[in-house]
Amino acid sequence: MIKQAIATIKKTKEIQDKYGIATKKSFGQNFIIEPRVVEKIATAAIQDKDELVFEIGPGIGALTQWLCEFSNQVIAFEIDDRLPSVLEQEIGFDHLQVILEDFLEVDVNEVIRKYRKDGQKVVFASNLPYYITTPILFKLFEAQEPIERITVMMQKEVGDRFLAKENDKEYNALSVITQYRCHVKKVMDVSRHVFNPKPNVDSMVVQFAFHHEYNVKEEEKFFEMVKACFTQRRKTIYNNFQTWTKDKGLAQELLERANIAPNTRAQQCTLEDFIRLYEVSYESVCAS
Ligand code: SAM
Repeated sequence: MIKQAIATIKKTKEIQDKYGIATKKSFGQNFIIEPRVVEKIATAAIQDKDELVFEIGPGIGALTQWLCEFSNQVIAFEIDDRLPSVLEQEIGFDHLQVILEDFLEVDVNEVIRKYRKDGQKVVFASNLPYYITTPILFKLFEAQEPIERITVMMQKEVGDRFLAKENDKEYNALSVITQYRCHVKKVMDVSRHVFNPKPNVDSMVVQFAFHHEYNVKEEEKFFEMVKACFTQRRKTIYNNFQTWTKDKGLAQELLERANIAPNTRAQQCTLEDFIRLYEVSYESVCAS
């Protein structure tokens, strides 16, 4: 049982004063000061006590204490060398392990192999440092070792792009590539007022659950094609796609075979449209 929530303004200030921790903007430090928000993130992130939980950026432990409440094994990566000793004293290291390391430098496959027991599900949870949201997520999306789900707080506008569907104005290559790997859902909107210091933007908690529904050959080339199709948003898919095929006639023919009208825009195409287009193109464009 949690005796005292860290995620309140009173407790946060008390811990910061006690250990002399002024927040560092360069590390994207905005601590959560609303216990219901961290409890909800942890509830969404963890389904079973046996899941292996990795946290990125525990800070002074606002979310960490809830992750430790709901799981028997939490490994947290923190870049700021002032914080592991705070976490040790405020939360205790019973089933929490803090690793002082820049998460961007971590070999995700290696740490999963190191800590995961046979059959154990792996989940990630974080109130992400906003300045590296996308690189962190792509690092996780590209991991080869199995990850069940990722539940993270991010800037609202970035969350909207991950969630966007065809015809939404935020829909882009990032939405398509992410949804190729994961079911994406919004857990909740979070106001800027529940952070200390208060950021200039509102946030959103988003969950990515890996699904393995699609399996194209040479995924990297599929992602390149999707990015190429979105290069110039106001141009037709034919215009963008022909720069990827490097052959106008072939582009026309492949679009027809995939049943996509050449005057469509990439924004109107579903994930399945892109997969079909890639599959009909693979032999003539990629395998040659
Ligand atoms: N989890 C805490 C909370 O919700 O109150 C803190 C969240 S704060 C937005 C981001 C945290 O990530 C900070 O503790 C910061 O020091 C840490 N951080 C920033 N860059 C990092 C990196 N590259 N690797 C690991 N941690 C990082």
